[in-house]
Amino acid sequence: MSQKYKTYKINCGKCETYVLTYHKYGQGKGILRLYLSNIASPDRLSKQQNNYKTIKEVPNLACPECKEVLGTPTTSKGQKWVYRMRQGYFHRKLMK
Ligand SMILES: [Zn+2]
Repeated sequence: MSQKYKTYKINCGKCETYVLTYHKYGQGKGILRLYLSNIASPDRLSKQQNNYKTIKEVPNLACPECKEVLGTPTTSKGQKWVYRMRQGYFHRKLMK
């Protein structure tokens, strides 16, 4: 069975600290918008939609080590919660 998503690890582009694991659906190669519901781990980030009532309460996606901001919370056209990712501020690694 083939998986419908690819698993990426997102690391800080500045200090290389691990930030999160993401399940990416669809064809595009880049990660411009990161859907909060598709964050696999850590729980601190994957469970945010249970912990906040509105997207405005969600903090920026920041590196846990150097605090560099990697993404800012917003909503997609479909009203899903996403981080708009700052290109060049993070590294992604495809997991096999
Ligand atoms: Zn960092």
